[in-house]
Amino acid sequence: MLSVGLCGALAVAMTAAVAQTTLPAPQTDPQIVAALRQISAQRIQSNIEKLVSFQNRSTLSAQDPAAIASGHGVGAAREWIKSEFERYSHDCGGCLEIKTDSFIQTPADRIPNPTEIANVYAVLKGSNPESSKRIVLVSGHYDSRNSDNLNVTDLAPGANDDASGTAVSLECARVLSQLKFPATIIFLTVAGEEQGLNGSSHFAKMAKSAEWNIEAVLNNDIVGGDRSPQQDTGVVRVFSEGVPMAATDAELQRIRNLGGESDSASRQLARYIGEVGRTYDPGVKPLLTFRLDRYLRGGDHISFNEQGYAAVRFTEFREDYNHQHQNVRTENGVEFGDLLKFVNFDYVASVARLNAATLASLAAAPAPPAKVHLLTTKLENDSTLTWEPPPGDRVASYEVLWRATISPDWEHVQAVGNVTRVTLPISKDNVIFAVRAVDNQNHRSLAVTPLPER
Ligand SMILES: [Zn+2]
Repeated sequence: MLSVGLCGALAVAMTAAVAQTTLPAPQTDPQIVAALRQISAQRIQSNIEKLVSFQNRSTLSAQDPAAIASGHGVGAAREWIKSEFERYSHDCGGCLEIKTDSFIQTPADRIPNPTEIANVYAVLKGSNPESSKRIVLVSGHYDSRNSDNLNVTDLAPGANDDASGTAVSLECARVLSQLKFPATIIFLTVAGEEQGLNGSSHFAKMAKSAEWNIEAVLNNDIVGGDRSPQQDTGVVRVFSEGVPMAATDAELQRIRNLGGESDSASRQLARYIGEVGRTYDPGVKPLLTFRLDRYLRGGDHISFNEQGYAAVRFTEFREDYNHQHQNVRTENGVEFGDLLKFVNFDYVASVARLNAATLASLAAAPAPPAKVHLLTTKLENDSTLTWEPPPGDRVASYEVLWRATISPDWEHVQAVGNVTRVTLPISKDNVIFAVRAVDNQNHRSLAVTPLPER
């Protein structure tokens, strides 16, 4: 039942019992399905082999012209990544802009001398002037290490950690650059991760100070599917922060008061990835893991979380610590080292498909609704939500999502049409709501939870 609300704003009032629809049947975009088929385990394998061939990609390793020419060290890896991005751009008529975010890191905990760190990235600019201001980003770190984080000479193959994530970023760039999207996609590879997230930290601060509207960061770190017997190649973990690292005191208080501990923007991104995993068939299922990262570990998504961006981490189900951060050696018949032979290239390709499907879905979708509010002017059992259309005119309709407060994922969805206000006969005290925008081809935006408004 549609009705025109105050001030001419469209509104919808659902006074009858709401049909508590379960989430809609997956609707795939044929263009995205076709793109996912282009993702190649063989390509990924050859890219990981190439990265391993640089022998030691420590951020502290040589990067002078002689080292680059010899094909050893982090500088040679960086130049090769650039040349790969340039090749993909050549194949799409120059559609990618290849850039380097380079800086001198002053000495720090694990950086004894001033060291140049360079993040290499490719920008697939959005085709719609307004939407192109929105950015979705995929990242992996191309630096590596062995048992000694300061060692720059012995082998540090880093096949899984993190040539696998770098290969995901590269393969997404190769395949998605063949398509056009309204929003912008950035394919990023960073260095300095093993030294203390230095590369990603610099990039995220640069993005924040330039006011980049990064909607989603997909960090892939250790997605090689290590071939240990206990590995589960059917899933990939997706770690997401619950309470935002960048939350202000007022935001923390609201989260405490209203039970918002599992509704950060990063968590909405994780749920979005869960839905993409059900919609497309990437070959691996996202296993949403509701914590920032694993015990004793961190990763580049944290640099983005610190700047207030939604960012998650993809990591294989079961890590083998003998195959990470280790000198290549055999002790008592046990093999140590992050070697090529432990990487499952089909698994990396599946993770790349899940990433590409997420990037493409988000870049094709409208922006999320703006200023989403839940009216709390009086005590009542109905719930009224309001929002504003995002910039641009790509929204065809909106959907309201909700779930029980104890539920990890959205349970119900109500299509409400192209309106900016809805009243549902559901008590806000009993559920958590969110609103998302939908375009005329059923691409859905990230969901936005409402702020209470009195
Ligand atoms: Zn790593």
